[in-house]
Amino acid sequence: MNITAICQNCENVFRAPLTDTSDGVNCPHCDHRHVVPTGAVVPHDEGVTITRCVVCPSRELYLRKAFSQRLGLAIIATGFILSSIAWANHHIWWCYGILMASAVIDFLLWMVVKNLLQCYRCHAEYRGYIETDQHTLFSLEVHEKYRQEKHRLAEQARADAFAKKHADSETDA
Ligand SMILES: [Zn+2]
Ligand SMILES: [Zn+2]
Repeated sequence: MNITAICQNCENVFRAPLTDTSDGVNCPHCDHRHVVPTGAVVPHDEGVTITRCVVCPSRELYLRKAFSQRLGLAIIATGFILSSIAWANHHIWWCYGILMASAVIDFLLWMVVKNLLQCYRCHAEYRGYIETDQHTLFSLEVHEKYRQEKHRLAEQARADAFAKKHADSETDA
């Protein structure tokens, strides 16, 4: 299994192997050590599996196709455009055929690359784990929760910075 994440220290993207015996992952850029929480990576019948994010406090991960959303969209969009052209030229069967083919290509690509797990909070990606019932598809509700948390933290940081500036100017005066 491996992890692709943004380093919590230098904010560079790094990829590192992860096993059930790793107690930490080091960033190759700044050597910052991300301690793997106990029980995050556990052995499974045919390999290892993951129960939570290892680089941030989040316990929530979601499954997504391991190829970029852009590529998936490009396949569907190309199929749509080509089928519209076929439709406009009254090639009805071509139109259906093309739509079907783009869905099949999308599916075959997924068969090859399968899923990855992504953290809602820090967007770290995990590949090469054994999928379990605990791993679920994207939930907008959970995503919204983390988006709002991020927003709240940013607001708090701004408020703190303002309060500090205010206090500094008081001591100056
Ligand atoms: Zn780093
Ligand atoms: Zn995370």
